[in-house]
Amino acid sequence: MLGLMQNQPLMISSLIEHANRHHGEEEIVSRRVEGDIHRTSYRQVAQRARQVAHALDALKLAFGDRVATLAWNGYRHLELYFGVSGTGRVLHTLNPRLHPDQIAWIANHAQDQVLCFDMTFLPIIKAIQGKATSIRHFVALCDADKLPADTGIAGLTSYEAWIAPHPTTYAWPDFDENSASSMCYTSGTTGNPKAALYSHRSTILHAFAGSMPDALNLSARDSVLPVVPMFHVNAWGLPYAGAMTGAKMVFPGPAMDGKSIFELIESEKVTFAAGVPTVWQMMLAHMQAGNLRFSTLRRTVIGGSACPPAMITAFNDDYGVEVLHAWGMTEMSPLGTVCTLKNKHLDLSPDDKMKVRLKQGRGLYGVDMKIVDPDGKELPWDGRTFGDLLVRGPWIIRDYFNAEGPSPLVDGWFPTGDVATIDADGYMQITDRSKDVIKSGGEWISSIDVENIAVAHPGVAMAACIGIKHPKWDERPIIAVVRKPGAQVSREELLAFYEGKIAKWQIPDDVVFVDAIPLGGTGKMQKTKLREQLRDYVLPGV
Ligand code: AMP
Repeated sequence: MLGLMQNQPLMISSLIEHANRHHGEEEIVSRRVEGDIHRTSYRQVAQRARQVAHALDALKLAFGDRVATLAWNGYRHLELYFGVSGTGRVLHTLNPRLHPDQIAWIANHAQDQVLCFDMTFLPIIKAIQGKATSIRHFVALCDADKLPADTGIAGLTSYEAWIAPHPTTYAWPDFDENSASSMCYTSGTTGNPKAALYSHRSTILHAFAGSMPDALNLSARDSVLPVVPMFHVNAWGLPYAGAMTGAKMVFPGPAMDGKSIFELIESEKVTFAAGVPTVWQMMLAHMQAGNLRFSTLRRTVIGGSACPPAMITAFNDDYGVEVLHAWGMTEMSPLGTVCTLKNKHLDLSPDDKMKVRLKQGRGLYGVDMKIVDPDGKELPWDGRTFGDLLVRGPWIIRDYFNAEGPSPLVDGWFPTGDVATIDADGYMQITDRSKDVIKSGGEWISSIDVENIAVAHPGVAMAACIGIKHPKWDERPIIAVVRKPGAQVSREELLAFYEGKIAKWQIPDDVVFVDAIPLGGTGKMQKTKLREQLRDYVLPGV
């Protein structure tokens, strides 16, 4: 017997219509490429998303056709989020930090038909023109009078001229909620990039789950700053969750430096911000140098790579901001776990609370996790035993878009490529990417643990731990370190700093000071590149 509830498909268009109806006056604030601050509202975003819908119809794009963006976080990008998906086309967010050849490869693989880009990225457009052969229309995200005459791009229109002739009303279609809504390619550090293809249903369920109190705890009283880019995994779903909850949205545009981000947090009374550790590192350095304080910021979600304890302490103790450590992947829309305390943890000492907060957190409802040994046998949730982490759930991929090989699933579970422990309370902790694991004398060393200690040293800005071949121990860890400006920390001082913090055999054999650690397009340390840079390196005494 079927239930007698209305069978209303979960549509992305319903998010912006909800925000329009219930939070129409709520502000959407963006720092633009031009540097100025632009203000709009959910009502206007809804109207202009409907104009985008008409503009796409006028191009005679088919249902499911891909409309790509190469854009910073801003109101026009938000309008495309709703306008493109709302009509049944697929929003494809391209990552401008990739090499133009890679962008062209991705655009061809996705068969993008339209590309909307911020003027900052004009050089990329020029480089891919003629190579990205499926793209039929280029739209510059700017005012009509800001479009230079001599771009050399055939048929280029400005976004404002493109949408202006169209009405601000539109009858959003209803269709199968499992239809594709947006797509994002993984960084492709191994082989060609692969695309996660999200659906209306997965996106809305993810927005529900992400807004919950023990996840990001979003509400109509929040002012939300996604520093995480809208070009990578839909800015962790915040544009959708923001519309669902009616939160004010604040978009940083291209200005991600510590000063600009801090100023935006203060001027727009931001209560909640999201970003990768490297972004917060820059902002904390700016605040420390100027002895600055937050007036409104209450929580910040940090993920994408492990959040060092020193950062959690700085936010919490020095600035009174709660850090939500979170973990996820492009293939997971991306939210998998968020670290929030349970009732039983509230009376713990600050040190013991920190031990919990350092973990990547508990699975959201909808995300099922398990850890397995190399034979696929499930391992216990004891907080000590580590194994390969597998996940399943309604916003986790079952296959990649137009993939050549078989589905990545193993008995219905997606192998994350991360190695983790899970404790009896369900808190998951990543010890490594499986390809970064260091094996020494038959024992595994967590590179994240070794890095966390280094960055707790006041003279260290960034640290990456890698394994180096060793004739006796198989591999030994070394730590590559970027000093803070003006800091004098020496090799001996840093090695001594490890004493008593981890077992002796886990302490790195050496410290290599470097000017910079290579970062990928999404701000993650690229250890393969670092290993290449250090390929002639020889361990002391070997
Ligand atoms: P991406 O698909 O580019 O977002 O990368 C996903 C990968 O980033 C995960 O599989 C993890 O290896 C890593 N990652 C994400 N969040 C965290 C975190 N909080 N701690 C450690 N690693 C993380």
